[in-house]
Amino acid sequence: MERITIGDIEIQRVIEWRGPISTVAEILPDTPPEVWAANRSWLSPDFWNPETDAYEAVVQTWVLRSGGRTILIDTGVGNGRDRPQIPQFAHLQTDFPDRLAAAGVRPEDVDVVVNTHIHYDHVGWNTRRDGDAWVPAFPNATYLVSRADHDYYDPVNAARMRPPRDEDERRRFTGMRLIFEDSIAPIAAAGRLRLWEDGLRIDDALRIEPAPGHTPGSAVVWAESRGERAVFVGDVLHSPVQILRPAFACRFDLDADQARVSRRRVLEAAARTDAMVFPAHFGGSGAVAVEKGPDPDAFRLARWADLKTAG
Ligand SMILES: [Zn+2]
Repeated sequence: MERITIGDIEIQRVIEWRGPISTVAEILPDTPPEVWAANRSWLSPDFWNPETDAYEAVVQTWVLRSGGRTILIDTGVGNGRDRPQIPQFAHLQTDFPDRLAAAGVRPEDVDVVVNTHIHYDHVGWNTRRDGDAWVPAFPNATYLVSRADHDYYDPVNAARMRPPRDEDERRRFTGMRLIFEDSIAPIAAAGRLRLWEDGLRIDDALRIEPAPGHTPGSAVVWAESRGERAVFVGDVLHSPVQILRPAFACRFDLDADQARVSRRRVLEAAARTDAMVFPAHFGGSGAVAVEKGPDPDAFRLARWADLKTAG
């Protein structure tokens, strides 16, 4: 199926980009090589390339229709962005707007945009180029962003950022200014930005909950309708190996220990309530139900979502 339902909520995915990024050794440095090898049969090819060790990822937007409204969760990288800190995604050009249209989404029909956090691959299509300016890509939408991320990444507060650990972090931290300026500030200037603290109810079925660690204001979106549940976890998970062991950190987690706590808490709640888990970057069918393993620090994959993507 190209769309699935959670009770009365319809869910579609619109993929902006897919391909290899760096290596899993780089991106998930504390996952032992044996774990990849032991799970090769299902990690390859959607999540890992065993020949190159590449981390295989997608960048995508989850499109939700709930209560007559259209809600987007995360907005990808965007076209034509100046991203010297991430050369692989600098000046990207994709037909994402056409793919969104193919999914039946006109820009003016989007009611709510949720950015699970302020990283380049989650806020890009917040805006589009209009002459020399960046303007909201979804002119009627309310954009929901955590105050914690907003204030942390606002260039006026640059002194609050934690010191970089290495040259790569220094480049990425410095580059946050560009992301804020082309993807967040124009939304605020247009009066479309709503900052939330301590979570937010979007409607009867959807609510945002903080899950800090990857960034200070990282969030998940819980969906519940007619007894069915889902949770959109953003970058709380980068790879299914982190379901097997939530302790496996991602190199891009700003506070790895806090991210581990959030990851375990979200997975526990998902397992307890049989919520389908929708991460930002999983290939394959994109979402998976989880269950508690015999070991308290481990989970198992219960079943993949029945979700195909057109094209
Ligand atoms: Zn991401």
